Amino acid sequence: MKTSIATVSISGNLREKLTAIAAAGFDGIEIFEQDFIADEASPRAIGEMIRDHGLDITLFQPFRDFEGLPEPYRAKAFDRAERKFDVMQELGTDLILICSSLHPKSLGGIDRAAADFHELGERAAKRGLRIGYEALCWGRHVNDHRDAWEVVRRADHPNVGLILDSFHTLARKIDPETIRSIPGDRIFFVQLADAPLIEMDLLYWSRHFRNMPGEGDLDVTGFMRAVMAAGYNGPISLEIFNDQFRGGNTSALARDGHRSLVALMDDVHRQEPGLAAPGLPARIHPKGVSFVEFTSRGTEAQALERQLAMLGFARVGTHRNKQVALWQQGDIRIVVNQETSGHAGAVWNARGTSVCDLGLQVEDAQAVVARAKALGAEPFSQPLGPGELAIPAIRGLSGSLLHFIDAGSGLDQVWEREFHTTAPPGDAGLTHVDHLAQTMSYEDMLSWTLFYTSLFEMRKSPIVDVIDPDGLVRSQVVETPDGALKVTLNGADTHRTLAGSFLADTFGASVQHIALATNDIFATLKALTEKGFSPLAIPSNYYDDLAARFDLPDGLLARMQAAQVLYDQDAGGDFFQCYAPSIANGFFFELVQRNPGYAGFGGPNAPFRIAAQKRRGRAKGIPVA
Ligand code: MG
Ligand code: MG
Repeated sequence: MKTSIATVSISGNLREKLTAIAAAGFDGIEIFEQDFIADEASPRAIGEMIRDHGLDITLFQPFRDFEGLPEPYRAKAFDRAERKFDVMQELGTDLILICSSLHPKSLGGIDRAAADFHELGERAAKRGLRIGYEALCWGRHVNDHRDAWEVVRRADHPNVGLILDSFHTLARKIDPETIRSIPGDRIFFVQLADAPLIEMDLLYWSRHFRNMPGEGDLDVTGFMRAVMAAGYNGPISLEIFNDQFRGGNTSALARDGHRSLVALMDDVHRQEPGLAAPGLPARIHPKGVSFVEFTSRGTEAQALERQLAMLGFARVGTHRNKQVALWQQGDIRIVVNQETSGHAGAVWNARGTSVCDLGLQVEDAQAVVARAKALGAEPFSQPLGPGELAIPAIRGLSGSLLHFIDAGSGLDQVWEREFHTTAPPGDAGLTHVDHLAQTMSYEDMLSWTLFYTSLFEMRKSPIVDVIDPDGLVRSQVVETPDGALKVTLNGADTHRTLAGSFLADTFGASVQHIALATNDIFATLKALTEKGFSPLAIPSNYYDDLAARFDLPDGLLARMQAAQVLYDQDAGGDFFQCYAPSIANGFFFELVQRNPGYAGFGGPNAPFRIAAQKRRGRAKGIPVA
């Protein structure tokens, strides 16, 4: 199946777009008139330039307000069409998109429109061109693909076919199953876009909020299943209008687009085998976080290790070949890497002390890497020292790394193989990583969401707003159905928010905090206090408010206040949390007790936590805003 993308979907000038689109692996483009009107080259030269990039021009668009007009408008519409045909022949493309009319003079009437298309089909056929008719969901008389199909059917011309667009069908909540009864060879082209569910004017929604399949909330997979079941075998093409994308990173957006189509067709194949070719391993179900690796040096490394000790971790091993220490408590492994070369050294040079690598526990590490490669991710490796295991890895976004550890191929033996054991694990009650919080600029949030949900068996929750005293941070959870891996993605717009200043200070490091789970937060804090730990101070006003919001058992409030523990509950259960002081560049650990059934992350407490962190930063003279 050929993949295509409308040039309007990504940022840049036409030449930048072509380079990025070709590099991402697309077969063709839909060309918008504006693209070449703005270019200095002639349509013929532009057509050649596109083909020189190895790309076809799959579609020329748009042509508006054609059908159903009275004279003299009708004759003028045909003249305009002939001029577009001239340009198409110069460019070297044979298919034009005509979208349903918004013209105030258009008369409506299926037969009148069909007659216009029949006549235009005759004119197109003389030049070897084809016409595709698309129902805009805000079209004046035709706003439903079923009506557009009836126009095409009655036009009864081999050079006139239907164009389907997932947004126009799904935004109007038209059942995509109705596509299954349309003959596949009468569907000339298929455009795909997703969108977040927002109640708003359809035109405004479409022009500003479309996104890649899988990034939004529409059932694009169900739509595509119906298209494939109808027997369609033309290109599948992205047509995305999105304000963020217009200003985003051209090549990253093109890669996301191609990734979204590969994942979509894999989903179609898995949900309805036979409709699409099998090709890549199924999504992987991560079983949890196997390790978190920090790059650090000197006094910052000492401060990090001091905090790990205060959090009850023990330094259980030192690497046989490298300046790398392993700290452990329960199933939590934290690696402190002070190497000056390799990936850790490069990340330290760019960002200072930060998380440079995450290890995930999976069933089959090689299968994850195979799927990731098929989705356009870059495998990662670096030279191995004596006795070191080759642990499969890929590059994530923002220069991050993900390693995959499985038991089947013995990769979980890495700790015994590569480290001298120095002590048993710590035992202050922290058992596993509850969640990771990654921070990014708001415009990168959709990329991260797509990265996780296309590679792993993870689902996303709706985006919620977190109030920072200096701005808004948007937060979205992606997690496995069983909760074994939970990631909160936080998108910051301004450097004045805590998340934004973290991004600026670390030049785009992604992991801002890691939440560690205990079954009894009070017992854990008692043990940690003896080791010299003191959590982030929370003002007493918070506890007065808590007493008003929740009906808490006697004594619990006082206990929480004494321990600086924050509280939340939802329909399923309740949740306790507290925070360690931030270390280099604003990274921090969170300690949580998640009682069975609680599904959240203490979101209502985030504004108080952020304010407390900023106060502490200012008191220490650290600029935080
Ligand atoms: Mg369209
Ligand atoms: Mg958290």
